[in-house]
Amino acid sequence: MGEELKVKDGQVVSMEYTLKVDGEITDSSEGREPLEFVHGAGNIIPGLEREMTGMAVGESKDVLVAAADGYGEEDEKAFMDVPRDQFPEEIPMKVGTELQVQNQAGQPMYARIDMVGDKSVRLDFNHPLAGRDLHFSVKVVGLREATDEEKEHGHVHGPGHGH
Ligand code: ZN
Repeated sequence: MGEELKVKDGQVVSMEYTLKVDGEITDSSEGREPLEFVHGAGNIIPGLEREMTGMAVGESKDVLVAAADGYGEEDEKAFMDVPRDQFPEEIPMKVGTELQVQNQAGQPMYARIDMVGDKSVRLDFNHPLAGRDLHFSVKVVGLREATDEEKEHGHVHGPGHGH
């Protein structure tokens, strides 16, 4: 008889999940393929990875991940005021609008409009889930040992992953 597989480092975990923030579903694998990740490789947020250690196939769990163990606390320095006339006209000047801007090195960064003033607009560069507690419902639906290549790369290979 083989040993029952449990989630541990170096295994590829397939999981179904639902993420709720403030009681609202913000992300879910429902209607999609289960999410696959290499356990211990930092593919998913640390607080969730830790809580899933030791789970067996078929097992479900509710996991509350505090902001600090999820996407981090909100960074008060990650806000920037930008003059209104620097925005292209097609961008709606509304709180919550998500946009992509370039930093000084020319790399894309994501921001949300946090406040709209008469002359300037405040952009928030925090991750949308920073500072929020995350309530996951997860179910392990598959487990296998990662290949050496997957362990080396730190991510899952397979259909759609292509290398
Ligand atoms: Zn790879």
